Amino acid sequence: MTAASPPAPFLDPAKSMACIHCGLCLASCPTYLETGNENDSPRGRIYLMRALQDGRLAPGDSTARHLDLCLGCRACEAVCPSGVQYGELLEHTREHLEQNYSRPLAQQFLRRIAIEKVFPFPERLELALLPAWIVKGLRLEWLLPKFAREALALLPAGPDPAPLPEFCPAPAPARERVGFVSGCVMSVLFGGTNAASARLLNDAGCDVVTPGDQGCCGALFAHGGQLDAARACARRNIAAFERHQLSTIVINAAGCGSTLKEYGALLRDDPDWAERARRFSARVRDLTEVLPRPTAGPTPPTAADARVTYHDACHLAHAQRITRQPRDLVRAVAGDRFVELPEADVCCGSAGSYNLTEPAMAGRLQRRKIENILKTGAKTVVTSNPGCLLQIRAGLLKAGARDVEAIHIADYLDRGPR
Ligand code: SF4
Ligand code: SF4
Repeated sequence: MTAASPPAPFLDPAKSMACIHCGLCLASCPTYLETGNENDSPRGRIYLMRALQDGRLAPGDSTARHLDLCLGCRACEAVCPSGVQYGELLEHTREHLEQNYSRPLAQQFLRRIAIEKVFPFPERLELALLPAWIVKGLRLEWLLPKFAREALALLPAGPDPAPLPEFCPAPAPARERVGFVSGCVMSVLFGGTNAASARLLNDAGCDVVTPGDQGCCGALFAHGGQLDAARACARRNIAAFERHQLSTIVINAAGCGSTLKEYGALLRDDPDWAERARRFSARVRDLTEVLPRPTAGPTPPTAADARVTYHDACHLAHAQRITRQPRDLVRAVAGDRFVELPEADVCCGSAGSYNLTEPAMAGRLQRRKIENILKTGAKTVVTSNPGCLLQIRAGLLKAGARDVEAIHIADYLDRGPR
């Protein structure tokens, strides 16, 4: 590691100095749990960030490796007694790395083209996935190399676009008019889940407005250090939702939800947008925050052993601190068939596009998650983020656990009693 002259500060000095090195976050950090290396822990990474900021370290392969290996899961942030805003520090450090460090070509292609030019655009994503679905449909996976077979295992059998109409009215006069964020991956791969979410909101007395001119929330850009691109996404969405009179803006994907709730912070230095962004973020709610608990009581067991468990999506549990509401909803349907998942809030390895950029660590965390799921004996795993769903489904498939389903909480509630 080479010393260098100090770069322009990219971290808020007070925020970067908030870490008191107590180490209380270490046991919550999935990568530290797996490697035991301090440089792969929150404390070690904050040390690296400060060294980059002070110019004691130049951006290089070794530093980038430890920072790239961070999932951005923010488990450290949730347990930090010092209130370290790790997510923000990471995003700004990644922006600094993007501007000052050149990655190997394969990583650049993956990040600049596949992740940033395809995933955030539903039409391009659908087109890009077409060959994959043809291979899957013809069962030709065996022709592919191992990494491609594993990537393919992440996909559902086919597209599920089912676009939501711009207006889904409640059956009776509505008590509220809410906006709905349909998401990029959600609208291509989980259109049925979006429809289920709208039905649940309608049943809860909400008219649902899904503006057609909304776009990507910007999470993939923000997590990858492309903050200007994330800000452009934020401005587009704020303008799209401002055109409607909405009490609340609802999202059913945890990763997107946490970014939408942080538009205020993302645009705080933009005088034209700061206040609009703050107002937008203040109205964003995860679906599980707005749905009432079903009142019909638990469903009767459908099989001798029909246990149900819940996996916390990192950006719901850690970034948004929402853990009770989804459990209450699942418990209302599952009753005493609900079982807690060991390490429920440890990342499954999906982490946005992490399972593409860091497949080895993502695979280790996937195996860890699946082992814990199988220990519960549950036949249904409920969660609230598309990335987790794909990662867990692929893991169950690899483990040969074909009798265990992973399902989005909206689909789980939609098929239960109201
Ligand atoms: S990030 Fe927080 S919990 Fe972790 S070492 Fe620093 S102060 Fe302690
Ligand atoms: S964000 Fe997650 S992986 Fe990264 S340092 Fe914090 S706990 Fe560890």
